[in-house]
Amino acid sequence: MDNTNGPGSEGDPERGGPPDLSTARRELVDALRERLDVSERTLSAIEAVPRHEFVPESHRSHAYADRPLPIGHDQTISAPHMVAVMTDLLELDRGDRVLEVGTGCGYHAAVLAQLVGPGNVFSAEYVPELAADTRERLDRLGYDVTVRAGDGREAFHAEAPFDAASLTCAASGGVPDPIVEQVRTGGRIVAPVGDGGFLGRGGQRLVRLTVREDGVHREDHGGVRFVPMR
Ligand code: SAH
Repeated sequence: MDNTNGPGSEGDPERGGPPDLSTARRELVDALRERLDVSERTLSAIEAVPRHEFVPESHRSHAYADRPLPIGHDQTISAPHMVAVMTDLLELDRGDRVLEVGTGCGYHAAVLAQLVGPGNVFSAEYVPELAADTRERLDRLGYDVTVRAGDGREAFHAEAPFDAASLTCAASGGVPDPIVEQVRTGGRIVAPVGDGGFLGRGGQRLVRLTVREDGVHREDHGGVRFVPMR
């Protein structure tokens, strides 16, 4: 396998979790394969990451249900299908350097790291306690991801340019310019944009931006609902 990052994922009972959880994870991936138009590479990254390690103990039994779950601090981890779709849209190659805005519990960062390899994911989290807990979790699970507490618009300015950026909080006025400027020409950005709308309905769209010589190309990938970017 060339898309692992860190200690063995498959065949490692400690990281993969007890057999019932591994089975649940495989069934989730089979269901995603039926439903989504995403690459096998993306699906194998989802299959390799033990989502149950990222969700609070109390929600562990739902870790492989295809739905968002609370992760504390009023934040949520996206449903697996959303992580799969967003990751797939980035079209990552091994070795690509990725900026993530909104580390949360680190699940999405681990999926990205699975694809690009160790040392290539740079993830910013606004809530310092969440950043600290998640850094420790990723370390323990063997994911070499750089987590920094702070505003994702600026946190990794010195590490730019990136090949891709993934936003997991919604920017109400579109992807902020400082983020677009940190992505190289030819690079991709996947992000929810817009506001929550009335009763949280309607306002946000998932977009993929491609940075080109002559400007930024934008594609729409449907309605979504994410926590707002701060
Ligand atoms: N990708 C995460 C889900 C994150 S939820 C996961 O897999 O768990 C969105 C996160 O974005 C929240 O934790 C929130 O605190 C964070 N966030 C909001 N605004 C931010 C900003 N300006 N910079 C960095 N993180 C931000």
